[in-house]
Amino acid sequence: MSPESVAETLRNQGLKVTPRRLAAARLLFESGRAMTPEEVRERLRPALGRLGLPTTYRILDELAGTGLLTRVERDDRVLSYAACRAEPGRHHHHLVCTGCGRVEVVGCAFPASQRRDIERRTGFRVTGHRMQVEGLCGDCRRRGR
Ligand SMILES: [Zn+2]
Ligand SMILES: [Zn+2]
Ligand SMILES: [Zn+2]
Repeated sequence: MSPESVAETLRNQGLKVTPRRLAAARLLFESGRAMTPEEVRERLRPALGRLGLPTTYRILDELAGTGLLTRVERDDRVLSYAACRAEPGRHHHHLVCTGCGRVEVVGCAFPASQRRDIERRTGFRVTGHRMQVEGLCGDCRRRGR
């Protein structure tokens, strides 16, 4: 995603375009991998100087709120963030490499028949679901991780 489209998304969502927001979004789009707030903070230090950890969290949460980023949970339960390359407004899930943190967009395989079955059995009205798909990417498999 180009810096212009990041800026446009921020403006469309009523957020000011700041160097910090731009730099954080750019870092994650260029890497294509999930990073913890600590990693993001370290990587942005040369360009932006010192950032507090709470500030870094806030910036990443704001970007996640616009749909530019997604939150990813790793095996160690550490929350990290990654760029989301999905078409805006399209229901999707994320495929996360447990080796290197690479994140891809994947379609949804939760069938409507199952939703109806759940509703019938439980009396719930199903309004959504969350799913994170995990695996080893091609690079990591070749490296024998
Ligand atoms: Zn996404
Ligand atoms: Zn990988
Ligand atoms: Zn789904």
